[in-house]
Amino acid sequence: MNDQNEQKSYWLSADSEPEYPPLEESHETDVVIVGGGITGITAAYILCKQGVRVTVVDASQTLSGTTGHTTAKITAQHGVIYDELIQHFGAERARHFYEYNQQAVDWIRTTIQEEQWDCDFETQDAWIYAESDASVPQLENEIKAYEQLKIPYRIEKSLPFSIQSEGSLVMENQGQFHPVKYLKAMMGRITAMGGKIHENTKAIDIHEGTNIQVTLEKGHVLTCQHVIVASHFPFYDGLGLYFAKMKPERSYLIAGPWQGNNTGGMYISIGQPVRSIRFFTMNGTKGILVGGEQHATGQGKPMHLHFEALREFAKENLSAAADFTYQWSAQDYTTLDKLPYIGSITNRHSRILVATGYRKWGMSQGTMAAQILSNRIIGKSEHKSSLFDPSRFHPDPAIKKAISINADVAKHLVKGKLEMPSINLEDLPSGEGAHVSWNGQTIGAYRDDKGKICAVDITCTHLGCSVNWNKAEKSWDCPCHGSRFTVEGEILEGPAMKPLAVIQTEPADQ
Ligand SMILES: Cc1cc2nc3c(=O)[nH]c(=O)nc-3n(C[C@H](O)[C@H](O)[C@H](O)COP(=O)(O)OP(=O)(O)OC[C@H]3O[C@@H](n4cnc5c(N)ncnc54)[C@H](O)[C@@H]3O)c2cc1C
Repeated sequence: MNDQNEQKSYWLSADSEPEYPPLEESHETDVVIVGGGITGITAAYILCKQGVRVTVVDASQTLSGTTGHTTAKITAQHGVIYDELIQHFGAERARHFYEYNQQAVDWIRTTIQEEQWDCDFETQDAWIYAESDASVPQLENEIKAYEQLKIPYRIEKSLPFSIQSEGSLVMENQGQFHPVKYLKAMMGRITAMGGKIHENTKAIDIHEGTNIQVTLEKGHVLTCQHVIVASHFPFYDGLGLYFAKMKPERSYLIAGPWQGNNTGGMYISIGQPVRSIRFFTMNGTKGILVGGEQHATGQGKPMHLHFEALREFAKENLSAAADFTYQWSAQDYTTLDKLPYIGSITNRHSRILVATGYRKWGMSQGTMAAQILSNRIIGKSEHKSSLFDPSRFHPDPAIKKAISINADVAKHLVKGKLEMPSINLEDLPSGEGAHVSWNGQTIGAYRDDKGKICAVDITCTHLGCSVNWNKAEKSWDCPCHGSRFTVEGEILEGPAMKPLAVIQTEPADQ
């Protein structure tokens, strides 16, 4: 397989048509949930079980966002994190973070058992390993943190397969599953309980008065008492300035058959480049998934090189891995202090709730967010969930990070406009996209295999940074806040609410 192959997530490989109809009329309900990923669907399920009337709307197909492109490890072990959390928040709050995540892991396991959902759930251990001597001090500090927080653990000297390791920290009884099977089963239960789900239904605005009104793209309005903004990047900001306090990062995954022993376990390295590995049931046999190569969205090397690096790693270290028939990438957001934002979108909007910023650990954190927000709606909020309040401000390390994220944004605001592209539009080869010169200006252009040009204004419609060409996924990606657009300029994901302006470089067809 090479970069010309189609990018397809294994979880979404069983092609399916949209199952839920678009919303074609205004209506009134108790709670509107914007976004059909793990956060929105889990919240809808919990609320429906409490007798709350719920409407879920998704701009596209449910589960086609990051949830359909995850590694789907379900764990409270989020790489090395607990030592850092103790330093920034103290031991008590670091322990709360662990408890919330472990409860989410247990809740998923119990719910699957009770509902008897067939979603390839397996209890598995989560491993962090030091791939070299340089990572050993971090591993040792993390072990001390587990000790201090009374998190059960086990230490292993080597990994149960051929990858070099200088020691590992294992959290037992975690889990993994097929996220799409799990959430499709959950959606079946939601609608059976009377909940409503609508695909291809985009929310574009929220107004809070006595009631809350969610405006949809086609002009219909949903009236409700609470909204949960579960759109990954919040589609509505409410002056919460989420774009200035979250950083989008893309990562890559390859998956294929595994011909070694039935190893099991979920692994992540400490040092750079991070490598993440897990095994899974692939069409009835054993499969392996290898991930890593993260970078700020729109700022990496040519994307196909990331897939090649993962393949090279697998070839050198995992002799029993065969051809990787699936490859895909996705992005997730990290907050200034690495804890998610879960709660009121701002202090002024107590009934507009948000959940985002899972730092690539959204299976447990999306579930925990759904529990926290649902509890809040039914009047059972817990004081300790204020740890995730989006309006929190912890000066260390927040200020330094905010400055560095926004300095990086400032650089990209001007960069694309100052640099002259190295090629003219007429020299752009077929199948390629790039910044090109055309009529004395810099534009973004893609030439398809038949020679037809699609050209766009490279100014991101979110806040004006210059979008960059993503060769592997044939998209325009914004390096500032992670918005992504198709070759025709249509929105794929991120905070942008308007498509890129299309530029006519060829006479329109007569
Ligand atoms: C490569 C990678 C690997 C990962 N691996 C793991 C892992 O092993 N374990 C783990 O715990 N986490 C992992 N994560 C993180 C996890 O997958 C995500 O944090 C989680 O899926 C996010 O879920 P979500 O519900 O918040 O968002 P999404 O799944 O992105 O859902 C948001 C939905 O909102 C919809 N939407 C957006 N805007 C609008 C709008 N205006 N109106 C209506 N709908 C809208 C979108 O169409 C989308 O369907 C990984 C992430 C990446 C990128």
